[in-house]
Amino acid sequence: MPTKMQQIGKFGEDKVKENCFCPSCKISELTQSGNPTSTFKLLSDGFKCADIICDFCGYLAQVKTKTVGNVDQIPSNIRGGSWPTFKKRIDAGIFFSLYLVLVSKDRKTYAIHFLPVELQQVEMFRPRPPLKPPSRREGWQGFNYDLSIVKTSFVCIHEHK
Ligand SMILES: [Zn+2]
Repeated sequence: MPTKMQQIGKFGEDKVKENCFCPSCKISELTQSGNPTSTFKLLSDGFKCADIICDFCGYLAQVKTKTVGNVDQIPSNIRGGSWPTFKKRIDAGIFFSLYLVLVSKDRKTYAIHFLPVELQQVEMFRPRPPLKPPSRREGWQGFNYDLSIVKTSFVCIHEHK
């Protein structure tokens, strides 16, 4: 059984795939019924740096999903993954555009916000202290995205109400 966090993550990734066209090549493919569909494909959980890839041009992006009270309001903080994994990429100057999917608790309302890579700032990635005992993952270190400094740089690209 996937955890609640994994389920909500999958919900967000599916919504981006359904509703967003690749910002790099802007290609859309046609379904058999003639409707335009996105070129995005979901990457597997074991893939570290990104969550979706454009099947046409290879564009990579991250997708973060959060349950919120107001899907129009960018939260100040969202959870990232493993800090050492992410820090290596920061040090190498490698960043990815971010799709932020904000979802209401009943999942009936959601909005997809986009923060392109060129508008991100290194200061928005904040390491958390390593986990302490009695945590089963003692020593594991995650990070948060501090979105308060880039709030106004997000563009809302899809809304479902
Ligand atoms: Zn593309």
